[in-house]
Amino acid sequence: MLQLTGITKRYEIGTFKQTALDGVDLAFRSKEFVCILGPSGSGKTTLLNMIGGLDRYDAGDLLISGKSTRHFKASQWDSYRNHAIGFVFQNYNLITHTSVLANVEVGLTLSGLSAEKRRERALEVLERVGLIDHVYKKPNQLSGGQMQRVAIARALANDPDIILADEPTGAIDSATSRQIMSLIQEISRDKLVIMVTHDEQIAHTYASRVVTLRDGQVLHDSDPYVPEQSTTDKLSFKRTSMAFLQALQLSFSNLKTKKFRTLITAFAGSIGIIGVALVLSLANGLNQEIDRLEMTTLAEFPIQIETVAFDLAAARQSGPPTGRPSDAGDFEQFPDVRTIFPFQRSLSPVQHVNIISDDYMQHIDALNPIYYHDILINRSVNMNILHRRPNDQVNRINTGTVNFEPMLGNPDFFSDNYDVLEGRLPENHQELLLIVDAYNRLNVRFFTELGLDPNAIEYDFDVFLNRSFQVVLHDDYYTYDAATNRFFQPTNLTAFYGENRGIDLSIVGIARVSEGALSNVLSQGIKYHPDLAALYLEHAATSEIGLAQLASPERSLITGSTITPQTHQSLLRSLGVDSTPSSIAIYPVSFEAKEAIRDHLDAFNVDRSDAERIIYTDLAAIVTELTSDVINGISYVLIAFSSISLIVSSIMIGIITYVSVLERTKEIGILRSLGARKRDIARVFNAETTLIGLVAGSLGVAIAFLLTFPINAIIGNLVDQLDRLAVMPIQAAFALIVISVILTLIAGLIPSSIASRKDPVAALRVD
Ligand code: ADP
Ligand code: MG
Repeated sequence: MLQLTGITKRYEIGTFKQTALDGVDLAFRSKEFVCILGPSGSGKTTLLNMIGGLDRYDAGDLLISGKSTRHFKASQWDSYRNHAIGFVFQNYNLITHTSVLANVEVGLTLSGLSAEKRRERALEVLERVGLIDHVYKKPNQLSGGQMQRVAIARALANDPDIILADEPTGAIDSATSRQIMSLIQEISRDKLVIMVTHDEQIAHTYASRVVTLRDGQVLHDSDPYVPEQSTTDKLSFKRTSMAFLQALQLSFSNLKTKKFRTLITAFAGSIGIIGVALVLSLANGLNQEIDRLEMTTLAEFPIQIETVAFDLAAARQSGPPTGRPSDAGDFEQFPDVRTIFPFQRSLSPVQHVNIISDDYMQHIDALNPIYYHDILINRSVNMNILHRRPNDQVNRINTGTVNFEPMLGNPDFFSDNYDVLEGRLPENHQELLLIVDAYNRLNVRFFTELGLDPNAIEYDFDVFLNRSFQVVLHDDYYTYDAATNRFFQPTNLTAFYGENRGIDLSIVGIARVSEGALSNVLSQGIKYHPDLAALYLEHAATSEIGLAQLASPERSLITGSTITPQTHQSLLRSLGVDSTPSSIAIYPVSFEAKEAIRDHLDAFNVDRSDAERIIYTDLAAIVTELTSDVINGISYVLIAFSSISLIVSSIMIGIITYVSVLERTKEIGILRSLGARKRDIARVFNAETTLIGLVAGSLGVAIAFLLTFPINAIIGNLVDQLDRLAVMPIQAAFALIVISVILTLIAGLIPSSIASRKDPVAALRVD
């Protein structure tokens, strides 16, 4: 069944050629006990390796069941070794880090037997070699004879047709040798056993046939065999392969023997993971904190609609303007916004002019009041407010200087945010409220406007309380002069001022923004009741000057000078004829309400042209978005930094895997002799790096997670509001473990491919 014809093997060492086998012709019966005798260096081991498919011949042929192996593929050799051959070596070649049982099972695993069958079969052969009581011991806990029995059991496990033994008793005392030899002899009763020995006595005592080698040639054969040429048995072996799980088990048992080193390696590998995990936790925690801030503290921040909005979406898209025109004659026109924008100012493309139309005001009116505390509408109307100074001079108040603006319409919202220090809130159109800042201060211009001493250190509330003003409607204030076609205001305000000239107003209360309230809902200064605005605007719309100015777009009827369309528009707004708001602020009741308000405002823009769209500003959202962007940006940089340590540790793991490859060279040879493919060997080391990566990743994530507690405790002590700064994101934790596995796997690819390419014969030779 096994026939060698003219088998030749040469080794080249530099230029020197060593002929190990020199045209060996041998044929074996399917059941016999052949001893190969010969002095050291005569080619016995080489011959055995040829027969076992562990090494390739240079010339000649090895016929297995009459079939040539000259064109055997690597996988066929692997399969042949696994199914047809059982190796027994002089130095046992057991895998030292696994149990006796596992050693016997390895070959069975390669042939794809189930775990149960494997165990059953392994115990069966261990019983047969008399080691049933030692199955859970490690090989180094056994005597030499016992170790050789394990090797024999391993060789027998797959029930191969051929047992190849290379000086199996070479390292064993003679008494034990005899026992081993009897065992082998018994095996040879139903198998072909080819045993190499240089002990003639043993050969002649036990073998049924003795072949003597000398210098790579057959010197003598005691019982030559000439096979009939007609043997045409089909030759087919099952493919061998090692399941990844088996590779994992093997690597796991190997790592268990090097617990300390594995732990140190994994810890070093985990440092990069710790860094990345901590950065991610911090970024995650901060973003959560900011979201929380947006949903609680910032929830009631207003949504604002101004005449000019910053189009954040456009800003993000366009970025900063790039390049300058190539030559001086080449210029572009700005978007044509001057006609609608009341101020002479050029707009950047990311600015958007909001044309607050009646349509839009109706849209705002349609907003469900349950969503907002209040809507504050400001107009650029400049009321005719007169005031008598302490020196009895009357002047017209500059409404901008004293912030003469409407009050909040919702008293509950007001008292949520303001404390009345003195007096009470305005209840009708004749009552005013003075708002001071958080420290009871007012701008110095305010005092000069009222004719008060700006250098005084303190003022009594009484100075302001009950202070009276007078608002004079246009028709009472302006007089028309037909000769010049102009409207004039009273020349002497002090003389003009008096009873029944206009509506008397007086300050009835002084209020201050309360602690922890929304700041800047109202600016400091004088606030009037919303009814006053309604009354004033109603009159202004039908006033003489209002209607006249409306009909005179090119000439100011107050100064008599020529005006641009823009100036005309501002003039109409200042007179109150055009009551278009200059800004609208909507104060949401909650975060959810804010969402509803935004949806409502967005609905207005659907199907509208760019120019007609109204872009509102949600400052809270912008703040949180920008902050998130900044946090994310910083975390990318930090992650990049910690990634360097990830790379460094990956390289280190690669080196350690290479060391492991060197250490496990013998094991590689053993596995190959048992039929493991190159790919299986690579798999063993990939399994090892996978395990290390898994431990490193899990360790890193666990350590980072534990570190978040002291970090949160420390930061929580330093900063009041931040009690959960670092929160590990679960998906990221899993992702990091996977990344760790992938990185170490990549790092181990080179060492594992080195391992897989190791020559099995050379590997077995290593000690
Ligand atoms: P034996 O087992 O009979 O002692 P071997 O088969 O091991 O002999 O070796 C036969 C000859 O081939 C020896 O001269 C040995 O030095 C040489 N040889 C064996 N393996 C190699 C190798 N891998 N490289 C070079 N020479 C080798
Ligand atoms: Mg030898």
